[in-house]
Amino acid sequence: MVDSIELDPKIWPDTADRNSRGEITIGGLSVTSLVEEYGSPLFIFDEAHIRERARQYLSAYNTADVPTDIYYAGKAFLSTTVAKWLVEEGLRIDVCTGGELEVALRAGVKPESILFHGNNKSVPELEKAVEVGVGRIVVDSLVEISRLSQIAAVKGVTQQVLVRVTLGVEAHTHEAISTAHEDQKFGLSIASGAALDAIELVLSQPSLSLLGLHSHIGSQIFDASGFEIAAHRIVELADTVRKKFDFTVTELNVGGGMGIAYIPEDDPIQVGHMAKAIHEIISTECARVHFPLPKLAVEPGRAIVGGAAITVYEIGTVKPVLVTDELVRHYISVDGGMSDNIRTALYDAQYTVALASRQTAALAVTSRVVGKHCESGDIVVRDTLLPADLAPGDLLAVAGTGAYCRPMSSNYNFLPRPAVVSVKDGKSQVLLRRETMDDLLALDPGIK
Ligand SMILES: *Cc1c(COP(=O)(O)O)cnc(C)c1O
Repeated sequence: MVDSIELDPKIWPDTADRNSRGEITIGGLSVTSLVEEYGSPLFIFDEAHIRERARQYLSAYNTADVPTDIYYAGKAFLSTTVAKWLVEEGLRIDVCTGGELEVALRAGVKPESILFHGNNKSVPELEKAVEVGVGRIVVDSLVEISRLSQIAAVKGVTQQVLVRVTLGVEAHTHEAISTAHEDQKFGLSIASGAALDAIELVLSQPSLSLLGLHSHIGSQIFDASGFEIAAHRIVELADTVRKKFDFTVTELNVGGGMGIAYIPEDDPIQVGHMAKAIHEIISTECARVHFPLPKLAVEPGRAIVGGAAITVYEIGTVKPVLVTDELVRHYISVDGGMSDNIRTALYDAQYTVALASRQTAALAVTSRVVGKHCESGDIVVRDTLLPADLAPGDLLAVAGTGAYCRPMSSNYNFLPRPAVVSVKDGKSQVLLRRETMDDLLALDPGIK
């Protein structure tokens, strides 16, 4: 059951609290004052939370025994400010399009600390990456290996690459975000021999330098078992490559996917435990086949920013709907919806939501938080308990919206995208400004 008053620390941003008026505060600022200043809906990021997660990942993974690079998966949420924070903390950045690459570069991220992956990078994207000196390009198909090799040759550079492999691991997570089983678009399968073919092709290209292997088994993963199997198989492959081609890879990237708690029932493994489990498997497997311990890399996205933000919405209407003779469901309509958070519609994602602008002693009743789009699937929080006295003008806060919400947003129904702000020690700043009607109309040459 979702408690609408208490803020569960494993779900809400680190600095989230309630003040004496019952308003939710983050970084010492009340959501009410932030909405007054920046409008609603509003994404609010807790800078301290993001920095703390970055430090936790570094200290857990990058140990003397197993040196590990931490790449922040920029697709989870990217702005120049966030990229700068993470680089300051010692993280690298992973991008999967020319657009994400551009943001990272404009943030001043050193190209050699950027990793570029993706299953269909365009020629201009690859050219740009090679030109600016991106440290690692993860190749994802034979066609791309030839393409990249030619681009690097023309530019007279040797490009460092990793080969993305599919390990046949089923991470226990939602189908749409599970990426390492065989029947899918990412990577080159070990089982079918495609991975070895790709590695052979890379090794035959003078303009490419094979650094290592890359895998990513899924997202919102709560335990270490999937990573353990992945680590086992990837070391096995590295050993096969050494025997077959007399070539020793020096880097193994096991991707991202570390989960976070969205609801009280979610119980993700602690970062330290996950790191230890992955380190142990890599070390043991390498020792078993006498493989020199490679550098390890991981790519957390959600785990760094997911829990760091909330979305604040203003309630516009409250409608009690008679569902059965016994059940009345309160439909709470807010001023955003599937355009700023598609995850509920896309993955049946669950969220924790709370009244954010005042106290109440009202009973909690069965409620559904819905958006303002012309779509009955426009649901933000499907099943929750919220105070029975919610009214137009009240603010609701949805927790855990730092990852894959703003980046997956749309302008459906010509709704401008919300502003994104960050808070720290009583101060706020804009990460992304709110879109205006002019922004939306600017693309239509017929607009007068
Ligand atoms: C999406 C993705 C990530 C990040 O996933 P999270 O679940 O946000 O940690 C990391 N690596 C690759 C290759 C990805 O595609």
